[in-house]
Amino acid sequence: MSPSQPIFRFAPSPNGLLHAGHAYSALFTDHWARALGGKMLVRIEDIDTARSREVFVEAILEDLAWLGLDWPAPVRRQSDHFDFYRAGAKRLVDAGLVYPCFCTRAEIRAAGTGETDPDGAPLYHGGCRAIGAPERAARIAAGAPHALRLDMREAIRRAGALEIAETMPTPRDAVKRRAADPGRWGDVIVVRKDTPTSYHLSVVLDDAHQGITHVTRGMDLHAATDIHVLLQALLGLAAPLYCHHALVRDAEQAKLAKSRGSQSLADLRAAGWSAADLRAHLGI
Ligand code: GLU
Repeated sequence: MSPSQPIFRFAPSPNGLLHAGHAYSALFTDHWARALGGKMLVRIEDIDTARSREVFVEAILEDLAWLGLDWPAPVRRQSDHFDFYRAGAKRLVDAGLVYPCFCTRAEIRAAGTGETDPDGAPLYHGGCRAIGAPERAARIAAGAPHALRLDMREAIRRAGALEIAETMPTPRDAVKRRAADPGRWGDVIVVRKDTPTSYHLSVVLDDAHQGITHVTRGMDLHAATDIHVLLQALLGLAAPLYCHHALVRDAEQAKLAKSRGSQSLADLRAAGWSAADLRAHLGI
């Protein structure tokens, strides 16, 4: 492998079956990687051990093979690398960039400022930022469940102005830069209460560790990229190029989702669809 070979990834969470939106993302990623003489890795994002299921991991790999895709082994599974994420989180702790948050979701909603983050969740009011070191230590020693939140104001101050390099598989793969605005997320959680990392932290650490050059994913993660480039800057990690593709929508123009009862690839297969039919339907 030449050091400049582009490396893409498809990174599903095994908490359900893949639907046509996932298929589009995987096919789009693989197609572009091959066009650039690169490759697509598959990464299983199973940090949520309560919601991830082995049957879904198997089903996902089976669906991807059915789509005609292949990928290098071994497949990275995030649940095998919690120590790696703990070490990343420790760097943020040691740098004084995070603080423990003991609040429950209900408390955050109740104390809400009325402001929301780009995903529509109540913006954290920052209450636990003011808790003094002795009380923090005492509560942690007493076993109080807590998450670690990024002190966003301090993080932005240290990182300075950040840009995101975005690209599209246009004939020239032109790169455009936009200013990142991570502040609109408030003090995001970088280590959850229930697992020793978070989506944002593990995705950023893994993308760097795996040498990912192109992150391709749906527009639903467009705003999250602002957090990702901030974490990369704070942790001294290289930033990949980002491409957020349009989402596959259903007849009501809603984004496909398990919770909406969108048909899974297994459903489509059972209804007689071939992988070629699906590719044609998705325009790939
Ligand atoms: N695991 C995430 C998901 O299934 C995608 C992560 C990413 O592409 O950054 O939504």
